[in-house]
This record gives sequence, structure tokens and C-alpha cells, in this order.
Amino acid sequence: MTVPLRRRLGLLLAGLSLLWVGKAPAGALSYEPVGLGWTHADVARATAGQAQAIASRAERQQRLGCAVHCERLKRIFDRLVLQARKQSAHAATLPWALTVVRLSDVDALALPGGQVLISEDFIDRRALHDDALAFVLAHEMAHSILEHERQALSFARLLLPREVRRSVRDMYAEIDHNYALLKAMEPVLQQGEFEADELGLLLASSAGFMPQRQLLFMAGEADRQVAGWPLMCSHPTAAERLERLARAAAAGAAPAAGSLAALIPAERQCRRGRLQLDLASSVKCSTTGAEAKKGPTMARHSANRGLSRKATVWSSSVSQKIIST
Ligand SMILES: [Zn+2]
Repeated sequence: MTVPLRRRLGLLLAGLSLLWVGKAPAGALSYEPVGLGWTHADVARATAGQAQAIASRAERQQRLGCAVHCERLKRIFDRLVLQARKQSAHAATLPWALTVVRLSDVDALALPGGQVLISEDFIDRRALHDDALAFVLAHEMAHSILEHERQALSFARLLLPREVRRSVRDMYAEIDHNYALLKAMEPVLQQGEFEADELGLLLASSAGFMPQRQLLFMAGEADRQVAGWPLMCSHPTAAERLERLARAAAAGAAPAAGSLAALIPAERQCRRGRLQLDLASSVKCSTTGAEAKKGPTMARHSANRGLSRKATVWSSSVSQKIIST
């Protein structure tokens, strides 16, 4: 005999009430999103080797470890981890760790398992002050907190035939050789960047770094970005990201962020206007100047490297590989 739905709901609610009555909340629920493919552990395992591979390469070139920014990197990262752990049960249990290299072709990235990696070459190249550095690290950590890698892979899985079972590594192999799939993932990847920007701004601001200076860093990125027409854009343009960030800040996403007008000087607002005009007319997406000059080239990345978010806030490794290798 089947139990009517209304009756079953009643039983469920009664059961939940019994769990609640007489008990203090036992801490965060370890809810596992049911709509995502694979487990967090599956994705973390399949991507863990990526940070190690970069660290090993740095070690072979005697470019592993910090040389100049040790104190500030540790100080900033420690403050961010404190805030990150408060975000969710998932973020609280991630074994956050920072690896520093001194490689010119590495910027910053974070893996699903909580490993964050940054290059001092990148910090020097961009002359990152503490607030900008905090934003970059927080942006990367936000990708791990929000499980963007798992989300993107799950989305890609939905676009493939369902009869075939696929592991996370199978998915990376598929993405490596299926440009149409990668292209179809573009909106999801770009949305992930907007989200990582917003949570990154929030995290870094909660950790005591100035939201205005974080946004000014992104404004600088928008200024220096050169338009291009890569085959695939995993990241929105810096101008679009600045716009979204400033709107989020103005809406109160970051404490004491102030208004967009206060954040960005008038002269820079004019430039933003130009960039928006470009976007509306011909520019579909942009990448950094050097990469844009090389022109679009389809590329492959090995199955154990994953959908890495190699670069920080302007172009991911996916787009970089497609464009520059
Ligand atoms: Zn990102």
C-alpha cells in the first residue's frame, strides 16, 4: 500500500521535528549537492596533481618558494583562510595551503582541494599591493569554496550522451578533444568568474582589506586589457567584471564599499564608458595583450591538469592554452 504524498510529508516533518526538539543545533549540516556529478573528493583527487606538477617544475628550476613577499603572503593568506572557513561546511574542512613559486608563466590558481598557488613573478609584474594581492588570492579561493570546477564538469557532463559512464579524468580528456563542448561551457565558466570576483571581494573585505583598492586594481586590469578575438573565452572582460564588482560593492556586498563614482575616478569612468562601447559593438571578449597578439590556436591540455584556473582574474588556463599554445 502506498502512503499518500501529504501523509508522507507529514511524517517527514514530524521526523524533522523530533530531531530538532530537545537538541541544540549540532553544527553545520554536511549537505552534499545532489545536482552535481561526482563527489567533491573525486574532483579534488583528479586535480590535486596540478599544483604538485607546477611546484615540481619550479623546484627543478630552483624557483620554488617565496623570496621577497614571504611575510605579506603568509599574513594575507592566513587572514583569508580565517574568513574562508566561515563560509560553509565545505570551506571549513578544506585543507587550505599556499604554495609560492617564482615562475614567469604562472600567475595564481586554486584547486578544488584548497591548494592555492601564486607566483612571485606575477606579484612583481603587477606590483600588487596588499589589497590587490588579497583580492587575487580570495578570488582563487572562492573558486574552491563554490566548487566551480565540479559545477563546470557537471554542466559539461549534461551535454554528453548519458549512457556512457565517465570519470572526472574522462571528462578532462573529452574537453581536451571536444572544442564544441568547451565552447558550450563558456557561459558557465564566465559566470563562475563573476561569482569568484564577488565572493573574493567579500572575503578580502571581511579580512580587513580595502574594497575600494581592490576595485581599483580591477580597474587597472580593465585599462591594460587589450581586445582580442580568442576562440574561447573562459573569462569575461576585465571591464565587465569591474562593472559587476562595482555594482555588487555599491549594493553592499563589501562593507563600506561606497558608490561606483567614489571608487573609480572620473577619468577612469570615461575609459569604462569606452570599454563598454567596445563591448557593445565589436569586442566579444578580451585577453591580455601578449596572448591576443599570438592569435587563437586550438590547444590540448593533459587529462591530469584539469580545467585549471591557472591565471588569476583575467584569463584562465583554458583560454590561455587555447590562445597561446
Ligand atoms: Zn577565476
